[in-house]
Amino acid sequence: MPSNVFSFDNTYARDLEGMYVPWKAAEVAEPKLIKLNHALADELGLDAEALDSPEGAQIFSGKKLPEGTATIAQAYAGHQFGGFSPQLGDGRALLLGEVIDKHGKRRDIAFKGSGRTPFSRGGDGKAALGPVLREYIIGEAMHALGIPTTRALAAVTTGETVRRERNLPGAVLTRVAASHIRVGTFEFVTARREDATLRKLADYVIARHYPELKSQVDPYLGLLRAVCERQAELIARWMNVGFIHGVMNTDNMTLSGETIDYGPCAFMDHYNPATVFSSIDEQGRYAYANQPPIANWNLARLAEALLPLLAAEQNDDQERAVQKAMEILEAFQPRYEHYWLRGMRLKLGLTRDEAEDLALAQDFLKGMEGQGVDFTQAFRRLADAAEAADASREGWLRKLYADDSALNGWLPRWRARINGEGVAPVRRAQAMRALNPVYIPRNDRVEEALAAAVDLGDYAPFERLLTVLQQPFAEKMEFAAYTEPATASESAGYQTFCGT
Ligand code: AMP
Ligand code: MG
Repeated sequence: MPSNVFSFDNTYARDLEGMYVPWKAAEVAEPKLIKLNHALADELGLDAEALDSPEGAQIFSGKKLPEGTATIAQAYAGHQFGGFSPQLGDGRALLLGEVIDKHGKRRDIAFKGSGRTPFSRGGDGKAALGPVLREYIIGEAMHALGIPTTRALAAVTTGETVRRERNLPGAVLTRVAASHIRVGTFEFVTARREDATLRKLADYVIARHYPELKSQVDPYLGLLRAVCERQAELIARWMNVGFIHGVMNTDNMTLSGETIDYGPCAFMDHYNPATVFSSIDEQGRYAYANQPPIANWNLARLAEALLPLLAAEQNDDQERAVQKAMEILEAFQPRYEHYWLRGMRLKLGLTRDEAEDLALAQDFLKGMEGQGVDFTQAFRRLADAAEAADASREGWLRKLYADDSALNGWLPRWRARINGEGVAPVRRAQAMRALNPVYIPRNDRVEEALAAAVDLGDYAPFERLLTVLQQPFAEKMEFAAYTEPATASESAGYQTFCGT
């Protein structure tokens, strides 16, 4: 195995002294590579063939890293369920370094589950196989749906047992991210009143993720605005596919605008804005419909963390800085709505913007509530309905509703709206199918894949599910079994657990 398959750069370690601790992965007993992401390896310019090997297992478990690899544990803080923890950090993760991908983009490569670090607190630093596979599956699904996300490059089992509610196989995930800088990274520095480091960190983020801001007036205010913009778009994308992150703590929100930290996340099946899957989210803080206001709340924490820089930028006029930051935070909701409605228009097959569209979109969702309607299927059935200029193909959609009378008022409104656009019905249906997924990582399918792998060492369901999710928009006969939601009673009690 040539040790030069990776050539890591380490700008984070070089530029941000004090924001990390050099640290090594724990020794693992018997690493076995269970999955290498060939497409992603190619994108990173890595030799996928060479890495898909026992040597790859050594690398992706941290047992034998390429020479010169300087692994670090990153420091960060964060608001968890509203409460501030001044020091979280990589308690079971390590950053290996950065590579430049085929598009010239700098990407972090990191381990998750690689053992205790100085930030582990009470944790064992390990990851269990189930959560590693969940993160692999959901990240790839999100990527295929076109939603910015970190991705899994590899998953290995360690040959060790980790203790959770029961003994489970240990695993390490190798994660690729635009960067691992979080809202909590900024909170960490500001809580320690390290203004010089704060400036370095902000400059680093601007250079890496928002280089266009460098030459603008008030670049730090620009940074806050740009992050708000990316997050508004990201959360809108989540909402448009029914994704529930589950643990939107500020340490799980990136500055890059990628989705990160797939713990108790899951996709909503039956439409209900109050849906919560995470077992620890007893108050429903991170429920489906709360995600936009929670993102806004997290961004307010970012604004607070940036305040020393914002004030300096306004000639030390703190009040003026606060005022300007508030304006940006107040713009989040309308920006979010803009992106959400843009997505909903496309989902509904609308090509023009009209004033009534917001109400049309909201009313479609309102009509689903309490009807046991699968969110994903509803939009596919609506595409079926769009295939005819009249009501002749609306039956499949109606069948999803316990009581379809909610559609009696809505469908004619929608039809009047689309018929006024002059797009051929078949073309419209095609366009709708091209962006309303038929395949999402359905909860029962995810559980099935995890259980087979964890309990039986059988990775076939995991592999099959990954294959299905790779092309979420093109319906295929052989994948018919992946389109159905779990039954209402199954999904009523569905719970997910943090990967800790
Ligand atoms: P999460 O909610 O999974 O993003 O994790 C929140 C914090 O807990 C981060 O600082 C993690 O590094 C840490 N953490 C989570 N699980 C473990 C674990 N098994 N061992 C040590 N630290 C952990
Ligand atoms: Mg986290």
